[in-house]
Amino acid sequence: MRRAVLLFDIDGTLLTFRGPSPGPGRTAMARASIELFGADHTAGLRFAGGTDLSLARAIATAASVMALEEARQALLARYTAYLEEELSRRPYVPLGDVHGTVVWAKSAGHRVALATGNLREGAAIKLRSAGLHELFPLEGGGFGGDHEARADFVRAAIEAAAGHGEPIVIGDTDADVAAARATGARVIGVATSPAACEELAAADARRGCGASLRAAIEALLR
Ligand SMILES: [Mg+2]
Repeated sequence: MRRAVLLFDIDGTLLTFRGPSPGPGRTAMARASIELFGADHTAGLRFAGGTDLSLARAIATAASVMALEEARQALLARYTAYLEEELSRRPYVPLGDVHGTVVWAKSAGHRVALATGNLREGAAIKLRSAGLHELFPLEGGGFGGDHEARADFVRAAIEAAAGHGEPIVIGDTDADVAAARATGARVIGVATSPAACEELAAADARRGCGASLRAAIEALLR
């Protein structure tokens, strides 16, 4: 089997929350919005497939603040603090056999990295919450706190792992598929709900619907 660099999205791909929506991430962002701007400006925003920088821009813009960049950084700092608080009460859980898949991938000679819309710090907090922090490196990779557009941090993650194998993006939304295609990387769509399955099918992604992620990786590299 050829060697690959597996670039993992986090939310909806590696982990999820239990209980009713909104989940801990959206709740933390809403609390930060209320604290800083006096209102919840997250209504109507799609968080899945988004990046923290783009979400913070949308919220700060909706709040009509003048100093957009300062407001955005302040919002993300408060979001991170609230995220930790929310997760202490309602931790994330891994989706499927993440541990087994990553251990297998590393033993098969593949490199594992993150390509996520989260801030690097937010990624660390979320992975720790789900008990997955020892599986994924926080150095290298691509993060939504460094690049506002998904394709840009996917490209950064690919460049950081250059020479270590064929890049394969693994994500759960059409935004993951589009970003992968913009960089020329192949993509595996991980669908954990019927709606996600439909969205990935519409984006024409190779899907992990119903099949194991490991099987999808092996099929792609065969
Ligand atoms: Mg996702």
